[in-house]
Amino acid sequence: MRELVRKIKVKSVLNKQKFVDDWFLSSYSINPYSNCSFNCIYCYTRGSKYGEHQVPSLAVKINAPEVLVRQLKNRARKREYGFIAFGSATDPYLPVEKDLKITRELLMIILRFKFSVNLLTRSPLILRDLDILKKIGEKARIPKELEGKMDTGVVLSFSFSTTDEKLARIFEPGVPSLKKRLDTLKKCKDAGFTVGAVFMPLLPFLSDSEEHLDKMFKDVKENGADFVLASGLTLYGDGPHDCKTRYYEVLEEHFPELVPKTRAIFGKSSAPSHKYQKELYQRFLGLCRKYQIRNKIY
Ligand code: SF4
Repeated sequence: MRELVRKIKVKSVLNKQKFVDDWFLSSYSINPYSNCSFNCIYCYTRGSKYGEHQVPSLAVKINAPEVLVRQLKNRARKREYGFIAFGSATDPYLPVEKDLKITRELLMIILRFKFSVNLLTRSPLILRDLDILKKIGEKARIPKELEGKMDTGVVLSFSFSTTDEKLARIFEPGVPSLKKRLDTLKKCKDAGFTVGAVFMPLLPFLSDSEEHLDKMFKDVKENGADFVLASGLTLYGDGPHDCKTRYYEVLEEHFPELVPKTRAIFGKSSAPSHKYQKELYQRFLGLCRKYQIRNKIY
């Protein structure tokens, strides 16, 4: 069935971040779509976190290309080069992108103005755009703060909250299969790109154990990941579309025994306890050493 998508016009599409992102190295972000049809249960971009109780309804920013030309022309004139992150609030390769090609159009504009990109996705549709991404990698002006550290203007990252297909179907019902994601990672690596796996969010008592994480590292290492980034789950809001509500509903249905344990590590906070996060990070670092894989992009 064809996905319904509204068309909206925006005044700005290039968001300037206050600081360069430590994880993704980005100074800017772009989201070609509003909302995300992949519908991950733990996704905090829907619901009330951003000030309103959004009903998930996908929209394409139809005038994004003309707005981006204006915004990048201005930034390039001031030589404010930097990495532009795709994938912070919506996946840039949703099924509708196949026909709409808005992400592709935006990448062509980025190539024209010689900016760099860090593209985070869960979809094999990214393979369609490797031709443009290759050119961006060759032509981009590396931002000053990354000179000598980065030798390419393109980083391709793939997200995983698990590499267990059954678990993924429960928590990421609309996302392409893990096999497809891992195959795509490998194809991007084989095409010569810097590629990484983003384990975000790791699901408490489901995908955060030493054993489960070990398998995730093994899977992404075998498929060519140059680096892995990871973080725990965050849960926001009490409204019907909020990720906290949805996450506990799904947990109650599939893993009721984990509800009290999960509530205990969160308490009243949106993030798990400091102790939990510290232990998770230690496990993660240990596995980076074991698999000889970087815990940052460069
Ligand atoms: S792919 Fe990312 S943005 Fe889309 S629903 Fe999943 S977590 Fe949210």
